Amino acid sequence: MLLVRSLWIFVVLSLIMISCGKESIVHVREFNIYAETNDPEVKETLSQLIDQYNSDVNGQVLNLVDTEEQANSSIRFQRNMLATEHRLGHARWSTLKKTNGDAFEAAMSERKTVIQYSMHMIFDLENFKRKTRGRFDKGSVEWRHLYHLFCHEVGHGLQMDHDGNPRSVMYSKISQQSRDDLDYEDYFTKAREFFTQP
Ligand SMILES: [Zn+2]
Repeated sequence: MLLVRSLWIFVVLSLIMISCGKESIVHVREFNIYAETNDPEVKETLSQLIDQYNSDVNGQVLNLVDTEEQANSSIRFQRNMLATEHRLGHARWSTLKKTNGDAFEAAMSERKTVIQYSMHMIFDLENFKRKTRGRFDKGSVEWRHLYHLFCHEVGHGLQMDHDGNPRSVMYSKISQQSRDDLDYEDYFTKAREFFTQP
């Protein structure tokens, strides 16, 4: 009887020790994007680019939200970006790490850390605005160029670097005609890898 009780106490003590300082990490790879624009054509085009992206990546990973408070990511437009910076877009990624509770609480109970991924994109306003008409024809030069540019910048937002292969979506230069032989399959395979990591 005494042996059973000792064993029981041992099991309980072991469980308490295991639970102390246990840490779980949750990665949040969902991008709620606030677009800083009042232009209905630009908004509509962005919404279609995002729909197309989610469909190609096979998941609802990008969302356009109405207010900055709901957002963890952003899209902004800059006038004359091409003229002044010689580029049509720019993006950066960031992560935010949050751990629950105070130090004592965290030591006594399960510590939960959330890592939230974010992306911040800027596009040349004039180029983007001029090509919004491409939303009516997904085979048009305008749409193909805009979608290529969008995927490229989102790629940076997903921590992708430039690629030396001219057929790659992540090639550093994007011609106005885009390309017929762009390797979107390779790009979306990499994008899906980002979203399905543990
Ligand atoms: Zn780039």
